[in-house]
Amino acid sequence: MKPIYFNKPHLTGKEVSYMEKAVMTGKISGDGVFTHKCQAFLEARYGFGKALLTNSCTDALEMAAMLCNVKEGDEVIAPSYTFVSSVNPFVIRGAKIVFVDSAADNPNMDVTQIEKLVTNKTKVIVVVHYAGIACDMDTIMDIAKRYNLLVVEDAAQCIDSFYNKKALGGIGHLGTFSFHESKNIITGEGGMLTINDKAFTERSEIIWEKGTNRRAFFKGKAAKYEWVDVGSSYLPSEITAAFLMAQLEDMDNIQHKRIRLWKNYQKHLHKLAAARNIQLPHIPGFATNNAHMYYMVCRSGDERAELIKYLHDNGIQGVFHYQSLHKSPFYKNQYHGAELPNSDRYSDCLLRLPLYYDLKQREVDYICEKVIEFYKD
Ligand SMILES: *Cc1c(COP(=O)(O)O)cnc(C)c1O
Repeated sequence: MKPIYFNKPHLTGKEVSYMEKAVMTGKISGDGVFTHKCQAFLEARYGFGKALLTNSCTDALEMAAMLCNVKEGDEVIAPSYTFVSSVNPFVIRGAKIVFVDSAADNPNMDVTQIEKLVTNKTKVIVVVHYAGIACDMDTIMDIAKRYNLLVVEDAAQCIDSFYNKKALGGIGHLGTFSFHESKNIITGEGGMLTINDKAFTERSEIIWEKGTNRRAFFKGKAAKYEWVDVGSSYLPSEITAAFLMAQLEDMDNIQHKRIRLWKNYQKHLHKLAAARNIQLPHIPGFATNNAHMYYMVCRSGDERAELIKYLHDNGIQGVFHYQSLHKSPFYKNQYHGAELPNSDRYSDCLLRLPLYYDLKQREVDYICEKVIEFYKD
């Protein structure tokens, strides 16, 4: 049997022809026809106040940090079990990160731990919906409202996923998405900022266009094209947007297939999990599952290492995920908060299994068979 890789980027078939079309129009820089089409599609489908394509989710998070006016000395509350880009853009602007532990039954931040971390310096809560499964947003938005904080949803993994019928990335003041090749919908490198609070709309376009009023000028709303604020080069070229359009048009098909594969994992593994005290993804009643990821949480780091080796010996690539950021080489000396045992446990014990469009159901059957075999007495 051929090795089963952890991920394989999926092409719908239309990417190259759309990219060729973008090239042939003669306008290949950003903010053109394909960009507008993608943004309109995503705004209409998910009810985002406004969507701006970016070159990555990291870019979108940098834009969010600028829009929130994060300054030296401000505090930002964020989970420790996440990717560096959830917090790096705020660190660049001088913020101190106050890390929250994950919940016991899933890697999302434990919302019952947030409020006690709020101080008079707190400005932003960064919410990360791990594996595309929603955090309890009512609780988070309520805290934000009571303490006058801004909420940025790092929805990198969350395309087509919902919290109580509201699209993820559309609930916080700002949201950020990734179209990196490891996500459900891809452009190689790519991302999007969503602006759900109108107060940020005008400035988001300026920051997107290097701190100029270029957009307003071309819409005839400004007399001159000038430097008006901070900003950077965040917009992708039309070639990237053309690639994205092909992916977006195939969204329902991609999601349908991924969800079927995910359910097959759950069907095969839930009995083993219950018998052996292994944690599988938990979908709360308020959340949907966009099948971004299938994972299991082993009982120890050693067990995970042995399982990774066992799968590898059987031609299957299983991979671990984040290492707690509060213990990272970069941040550990600056971190003075409490121990975060759940975050550390997911760092040590969480294992991700292959999940991508072109994976076959029989390959999922085989992977599960090997996992079950590993746990046989
Ligand atoms: C993938 C990911 C990112 C980074 O996305 P890029 O588009 O590569 O910048 C940020 N946060 C989370 C939670 C992610 O999963």
